[in-house]
Amino acid sequence: MKFIVVAPRFLRFVTRGFARAMVLYPFIVLSNESDKHDAQLIRHEQIHIYQQLELLIIGFYLWYGIEYLVYRVRGYTHHDAYFRLSMEQEAREMACNLDQSRKWYGWLRYLS
Ligand SMILES: [Zn+2]
Repeated sequence: MKFIVVAPRFLRFVTRGFARAMVLYPFIVLSNESDKHDAQLIRHEQIHIYQQLELLIIGFYLWYGIEYLVYRVRGYTHHDAYFRLSMEQEAREMACNLDQSRKWYGWLRYLS
């Protein structure tokens, strides 16, 4: 079950214009109404919902934030650190393979 909300100002405020979508469990927040029909984007965000469930939501944000900080400390830019995040890598790969089933904790294999 997906709960999709279109809230461009909220998304712009929270992500400082960086993202066009995000997940605040159980909601997928989009910046544009038309993105509701973007199957890859919705799938990407749906993967984040599964990740949040696996880590009981708060664990997702802790892991996500700590992993991001580790990459930043290693010298990566904001953009590069974001793209290296294991959870983002899994979501990107799964979004490109709409029929591929997901393994529990699948994001762990992207840790580097
Ligand atoms: Zn993402």
